Amino acid sequence: MSSAVNLGSRLAEIKGAEVIKSFCYTCPWQCPTEVFVRDDKIVYHKGNPESPNNIGSRCAKGMASWHVTRDPDRLKYPMLRTNAKGEPGQFKRVSWDEAFAFIAEKLKSIADEYGPEAVALTCHHDPNTQFYRHLLGELYGSPNLYAHTSGCEQDRRSACLTLFGHVFPMHDFANSKYVMLWGMNNLGANQGLWESRALIEAQKKGCKLVVVDPNFTETAQKADEWIPIQPGTDGALALAMCHSIISERLYDADFANSYCNGFDGFRAHLHDNGYTPEWAASICGIDADTIKRLAREFATTKPAMSAIFKGSGYYTNGADAGRACYALNAICGEVDKPGNLHLKDWAPLGLPVVIPDEAKRAPAKDALHAAMGYPLAPDLPNSKLPDAVIDGNPYPVKGLLVHATNPVMSDPNRDRVLEMFKHLDLAIACELYMSETALECDIVLPETSFYEQAEIRQGMWLGPEVVLCQPVVSPVGESKAPYEITKGIAEKMGWGEYFPYEKWEDWGEIMMENVPMSLDELKSKGFWAGEIRYNRVPDGLPTPSGKIELHSSSYEDAGFNGYPEYTERSVVPDEEFPLQLTHSKLSMHCNIVTQNNPYLMEVCGENWVEINSRDAALYGIVDDSMVILESPKDQIEIKAKVVEGLVPGCVSVRHGHGFGHWAMGSTAKGRGAHSNNLMDTHTNPITGANCYNECKVRIRAA
Ligand code: SF4
Repeated sequence: MSSAVNLGSRLAEIKGAEVIKSFCYTCPWQCPTEVFVRDDKIVYHKGNPESPNNIGSRCAKGMASWHVTRDPDRLKYPMLRTNAKGEPGQFKRVSWDEAFAFIAEKLKSIADEYGPEAVALTCHHDPNTQFYRHLLGELYGSPNLYAHTSGCEQDRRSACLTLFGHVFPMHDFANSKYVMLWGMNNLGANQGLWESRALIEAQKKGCKLVVVDPNFTETAQKADEWIPIQPGTDGALALAMCHSIISERLYDADFANSYCNGFDGFRAHLHDNGYTPEWAASICGIDADTIKRLAREFATTKPAMSAIFKGSGYYTNGADAGRACYALNAICGEVDKPGNLHLKDWAPLGLPVVIPDEAKRAPAKDALHAAMGYPLAPDLPNSKLPDAVIDGNPYPVKGLLVHATNPVMSDPNRDRVLEMFKHLDLAIACELYMSETALECDIVLPETSFYEQAEIRQGMWLGPEVVLCQPVVSPVGESKAPYEITKGIAEKMGWGEYFPYEKWEDWGEIMMENVPMSLDELKSKGFWAGEIRYNRVPDGLPTPSGKIELHSSSYEDAGFNGYPEYTERSVVPDEEFPLQLTHSKLSMHCNIVTQNNPYLMEVCGENWVEINSRDAALYGIVDDSMVILESPKDQIEIKAKVVEGLVPGCVSVRHGHGFGHWAMGSTAKGRGAHSNNLMDTHTNPITGANCYNECKVRIRAA
C-alpha cells in the first residue's frame, strides 16, 4: 500500500470523512480523484493514487476546485429575463416548472414556424450533454447539435480525423526519443498531468524535446531546443521538413508505400510547389540548415513524434499546418507505435438513453456546418452562427441552448456575438454562474457542478479508460444536473417516457453494460482501464482509404487541395498596426472557467500581454506598466510584461480574464483584460475554426 493511500485512510479516520471516488472536471483532463466528505462538505481531496491517468496527482486548479461547491456567486434558481434584449439583463426567480413550461412552449413555436433545425445546441464535450442531444436531436429533430471545438482545437481535430480517422490521439511521450511540439505548451497549460510527467521523464532518459513556437513558453523553457518561428508559419516549416526528409531518402519507404494514401503524389506535390528548406527559411525566420538538421534528426531518431494542439491552428492556414505537422509522423513510419502519436482505443461505453426509432424525428435540412459551406468542419463554425441568427444565412436559427460554454467571452468579435443574442427568440443558458452569455439569454438554468452530479466519461489516458464522477455533496440552491433538466423539458414536450430514470445509477448501469466492470465496482474504484494496444495502422484506419491520408479525397471533393499546402495567414502587421497578436494560457487558470476562484486569483489575479524587450524599447513600454493594446477594431488596457523569449514583432496575451468576467461573480469582476473584441471575424476556410491570432495591433503606454 502506498504512503498516499495510508495518508488518505488516516485522514478519513481522523476526520470521520467518507471517501468518494470521483474525478476533477475543472479542465477537460478529468483527473480521477478521491473526495473526502463530512457533513455534506468537502473537507479534503486528492488524486486517485491507483489511476494511471494522474497517478495520484492534481494540479493547483484541481486542488482549489472545491471552492465551486461553496461559492456564494453560484446561480441558485432558474431565472427568467424581464427586460428587452440588448439592455443589461434583468431577471426574476421562477420555479423549475415555470422554466420548463416556458422553454417547451418556445421550442414548440419555433419548430412550428421555422422547423426544428432553427434550434441549435452549443456545449462543452461532457457526456451528460448527451441528454440534451437525445432531446433536441432525436426527438425534436434538429441536426444542429454542436460543441465548442471551433474555439478550441478544431484545426488539430480536423487534421487528425483527416490523416488518421481519429478524433483525439494521446501522446506516448514516455517511450519517445524525439518529440517535436508545434505551438503546444502542455507544461504551461497545466493539463494532461500524466502526459506532462511522461515528457519530463522521457527527457531524463535522453529524449530530445524540440518546441516550435513564437513564444518561449513554459514547455519551450524545458526543451532541449526552442525554434522561435514566425507566427502562422508552422505549415511552411513542416512541409519543408517533409521535403527534406523525402529528398534525402530518410523516410520509411515500406511504411509510406504500404500505409500512406498518396505518398508518391505527396512527394511530387512538395517538389512541384518548391517547398524546400530554402523556400521556408524566409517565411518562418528559421535558416535552411536548421530546417534540414531538424528534418534529419526527426527522421533518424526513433521513436519520434510530431504533435500539435491549438497553437498551429488559430490562423486561416491552420488546418493544413496541422496536416503537414502530422504528415511528418506518417512519412517516417512513426504512427501508433510505442513513443508515437497514439491512436487510442475508446472504452465500450453505451449511450444512457435509447430513443425508439418510431419516436425519432429525422432532420429535414443539412446541419448548419454543411449548409454554411464547411462540410469538413468537425464542429460548428461558431463565427458563422451570427450570420444564421441575424441574417437567416444559410437558414434561420431562432433558438440556442448554451451549455457550459460562454461564447460572449470566448468567441472573437464580441460585438457580433452580442448582436446575435438580441435576435434569438429563445436563448437558454445552463450554467453555474450568471456568465456574460447567461446575461444575454432569455432564461438561465442553474446547473450542478461536477462535485454535485454524476458523469461517466471516456478517460484521457493511453489505453481505453472509463472515469466516474459521483455526486459528493448536495446541489447548490435548486441547481439540477443535465439529466434532470432534460427530463423536465421532455415531460413538458410530451416525451417524458423516454427519460424514465429516478437516479443516476439507472442510466449509469446502461452506459456500463459493455464495460468489463460493474457500476458498483466503478463506484468503489473510480475508473476502469483496459489494455494499451499499439500498431493499429496495418489493421486499417477509419479513413476513406483505410490508410493514413497524405492525400485526402474528402478535401478534393470539398474543393480544396488533397495535399496540405501553405498559404499566408490573412492578417499581416503593417505600418499602422505593426505587431501580430498571439495568445497563450495561464497555468493557474483553465480558459474562462476558474476566474471566480479566490485561491487561484490570489496566485494569478490578472492577465497580461507579453512583449519582446526590443519592441518594448521601440514603443516605450516598461515592464509591469499598464498599456493600451489597439487593433483596427477595438482597444484594451492591460498590464505589460517585457520578456526576452518572444519573437520580435509579436505580442502574446495570456488570456482568460477581463471585462467583468462572471458578470455577477465578485472575485473575477473587473480584473484583467479580455482580448476577444480586438479581433474581427476570421474563420478557417476548411475547418470553420475561430482564427484568434488573425489580428494586428499596436501598443502604447496607458
Ligand atoms: S489537470 Fe488539474 S484542473 Fe485538469 S482535471 Fe486534472 S487536477 Fe483538474
